[in-house]
Amino acid sequence: MASQEIEALSSALARLPGLGPRSARRAVLHLVKKRETALPALLDALLAVQDTLEECRICGNVDTRDPCGICSDPKRDAKSICVVEDVADLWALDRAKLFSGTYHVLGGRLSALDGVRPEDLAIPGLLARVEAGGVDEVVLAMNATLEGQTTAHYLAERLEDFSVRITQLAHGLPVGGELDYLDEGTLAQALRARRPMG
Ligand code: ZN
Repeated sequence: MASQEIEALSSALARLPGLGPRSARRAVLHLVKKRETALPALLDALLAVQDTLEECRICGNVDTRDPCGICSDPKRDAKSICVVEDVADLWALDRAKLFSGTYHVLGGRLSALDGVRPEDLAIPGLLARVEAGGVDEVVLAMNATLEGQTTAHYLAERLEDFSVRITQLAHGLPVGGELDYLDEGTLAQALRARRPMG
């Protein structure tokens, strides 16, 4: 029977995505065994992240600085904005290294079921960026789910009045596909073959 502190650590780890109670117990056992080395390293890394994480005021990315590394990179093409549902999608797309523009994180998707309305998403920020000018293309990179596509159509309507090209990812995406589960090749293909929204 483990102590209360060890149990608390196990259950905190077990709540992480990809870890269940069994993996969490194994991780804790590892940390207990390596308390001289692995434990301080993990603790330092967690504290460093906790102290420095910020949400980018421009795109909503989470990074250790604000504006984030992407928005403040002069090599990125600010004329092209790729709109994603979540930070995880941004990271997945950026790992694919095919998109050289910038991003905009909505913070979710429209959902009647979950009561998510347009005003709950970072849509005003997106419209403001487009309205400020200098944007040629908005890529709607929503998940290939019903809610993702509903969100994409809503955004396309809101962007209609601006002189900006609106495209969406090619539907090589599996139906119901969540971007951050796709391999980089599939994602790169969907980006490369992006097509006008219609
Ligand atoms: Zn940013």
